[in-house]
Amino acid sequence: MKINKNLSVLFFLIIFSQVGFAQKSPKKVIFLIGDGMGIAQVYSGMVANGNKLNLEQCTYSGFSKTYSSNNFTTDSGAGGTALACGVKTKNGMIGMNPDSVAVESILELAEKNKLSTGIVVACAVTHATPASYIAHQVNRNMYEEIATDYLKTDIDVFIGGGKKYFEDRTDGRNLTTELKAKNYNVVYNIDDVKAVKSGKLVGLLYDDQNPNMPERGDMLPDATMAAIDILDNNKKGFFLMVEGSQIDWAGHDNNAKQVVKEMLDFDKTIGKVLDFAKKDGNTLVIITADHETGGMTILKGKMGSDEMNVVFTTKNHSGVPVPVFAYGPGAEKFTGFMENISFKPKLEKLLKLKK
Ligand code: MG
Ligand code: ZN
Repeated sequence: MKINKNLSVLFFLIIFSQVGFAQKSPKKVIFLIGDGMGIAQVYSGMVANGNKLNLEQCTYSGFSKTYSSNNFTTDSGAGGTALACGVKTKNGMIGMNPDSVAVESILELAEKNKLSTGIVVACAVTHATPASYIAHQVNRNMYEEIATDYLKTDIDVFIGGGKKYFEDRTDGRNLTTELKAKNYNVVYNIDDVKAVKSGKLVGLLYDDQNPNMPERGDMLPDATMAAIDILDNNKKGFFLMVEGSQIDWAGHDNNAKQVVKEMLDFDKTIGKVLDFAKKDGNTLVIITADHETGGMTILKGKMGSDEMNVVFTTKNHSGVPVPVFAYGPGAEKFTGFMENISFKPKLEKLLKLKK
């Protein structure tokens, strides 16, 4: 009898905790974008890694439809803008609707609601994907104007390449000096990034684009965890966007072995983020892509080997949907076929952000 009673209490507690988890809202969101990461890119990493990836720990999955407002096949400007701002726009545009009107991003809205915010990328911070979260420009190639847009926000942490767009500019402004005046710590290498534990941080680790793998080392996972360390000081929560930027570039090069290297670097980052989310319990992790690159498929392979028979059908992007993986409170909202513009309104609701 006594055992039975204890068991029923335990049973009740288990059911209660499950219900509690399912209905809980996240306080923190970590949104990871694998640029150009279709299902073949994910699977090539999984095959080379011996039939496993960290992202398999995600409990929900689905697909995102990536077409832009004027093209069946999106670029990273319109693709990033859809994910960040919740609007389909014209290819090449950043943080604007097709009529060139600026649209607030989920990061800007989170900042306005007093959450901490951050961007960590494996490319210049002025490149199309990170720019979509912070800038509003008619053309993705306006790197200096995009850099200037970082100063119009109160973003807490941003780390990547692109130093020259802040310090060596045609208008003569030195944005680093201006950032320091706004109380940012500005650092230029990953060790200095890791040393900053609070306040506001800018890491401009490369003059232009970050090098590819393996030359970049653990820049992406290390910078991501350093950013989380700082952002997590805010009891209200945070929004962090992390980009595995160069899966796309390897796809443009039709270089399958490089796709694997970039994919595994991204997945290493995902593993660390999921470890944090598991311990934390209040963190929603979303992993998706802005589009697929290379029209990649795998005809033959062997588990544990990066020797695969891979076929690319284009040097550019393709129009197929991309996978979505989710973990944590609210993850159940990210299943089935989704429009790429559906992430922002869902996150807005889950984080209870006010406009
Ligand atoms: Mg990108
Ligand atoms: Zn691309």
